[in-house]
Amino acid sequence: MTANLLDFDLEGLAAFVESLGEKRFRATQLFRWIHQRGARDFGEMSDLAKSLRGKLATSARIEGLPVVAQHESADGTIKWLFDVGGGDAVEAVFIPEDDRGTLCVSSQAGCAVGCRFCSTGHQGFSRNLTTGEILAQLWFAEHFLRKHLKTEERVISNVVMMGMGEPLQNYAALVPALRAMLDDHGYGLSRRRVTVSTSGVVPMMDRLGGDCPVALAVSLHAPNDTLRDNLVPLNQKYPLAELLAACNRYLEHAPRDFITFEYCMLDGVNDTPEHARELVRLVKGRIACKLNLIPFNPFPQSGLTRSPHSRVLAFAKILSDAGIVTTVRKTRGDDIDAACGQLAGDVKDRTRVAERMARQRTVMLKPVPAAPAAKEG
Ligand code: SAH
Ligand code: SF4
Repeated sequence: MTANLLDFDLEGLAAFVESLGEKRFRATQLFRWIHQRGARDFGEMSDLAKSLRGKLATSARIEGLPVVAQHESADGTIKWLFDVGGGDAVEAVFIPEDDRGTLCVSSQAGCAVGCRFCSTGHQGFSRNLTTGEILAQLWFAEHFLRKHLKTEERVISNVVMMGMGEPLQNYAALVPALRAMLDDHGYGLSRRRVTVSTSGVVPMMDRLGGDCPVALAVSLHAPNDTLRDNLVPLNQKYPLAELLAACNRYLEHAPRDFITFEYCMLDGVNDTPEHARELVRLVKGRIACKLNLIPFNPFPQSGLTRSPHSRVLAFAKILSDAGIVTTVRKTRGDDIDAACGQLAGDVKDRTRVAERMARQRTVMLKPVPAAPAAKEG
């Protein structure tokens, strides 16, 4: 089996190139061809020594993931469904905004954490994605978008690890993928523009802070342990006090001076004024944070419903009045099930995935309409 070069960060690629009897620095050129120019074929790498190209042709490949479907929302959001084999599929979502282009990336097929309000959690855990499978989502989306927007400029300015899966339960594959995103010879994204979102895997938060500090979002969803134990089962292992302590340790390394707490608003479950006041007591003066309130995206098996907008606003006001920077997330891509927690769609019954894929394979890939090019800022 040849090596898939999407599996390497630059360091790993250098070691691979060396194992072929070539100088390490050749890897930089190769890495740029793959990630900056979207090359799939060694033949097109015109400035690479012929001898190296020859060796690569027999020992390596650049292999992305098959796209089984592409859906485009009326608001410009685009969702891709990638086949990862064995009847599993993962999704990536591109969200264009005026001043940035964000790609939401998956880290696992399914998820073992099993949060009550998350359809990926309900689906169960299949397997970890490889580094190559994580990077393939970005590699494909970036170069697809450039082609369709007819631009040579970078389109994706931000990556959020908020697709399917718990990234910190796939640490070994995650870190090289993050490094390729950050590398100037790769995607050149700044650490502040790459966000790992976690349900709170405390030991891995510490390791990430040491190995590869990027922006961190923590899925909080409850102001006390009793409720959080129920909504996010991982809380039974790493309760709130430990989680907040880990957030504070992370801030010593983080590229941003705050943690983003995500809080999914569930009707009658965690959305009362008393919950808001309890949340203020939990975080105020204890952790530098911003609160991001997410309207719940319902799915049938959850038995939960979205909080009314008025209650979300009242909740936000209590937090803001207490001096906590609070935003209410706009839902994007609702019409194509690309909103948070809807990525798994109806794949709970995995035996139906193959059937669904076969059906969706007939969807024509439509050209993407002009979206604003991503700017720095
Ligand atoms: N496993 C990681 C990252 C993926 S989930 C984590 O839990 O942080 C990304 C975000 O979507 C999390 O904040 C998660 O709580 C939220 N989410 C999951 N299901 C949702 C739903 N049905 N509606 C709204 N947000 C949801
Ligand atoms: Fe897993 Fe995150 Fe969904 Fe929880 S919210 S089940 S951690 S993907």
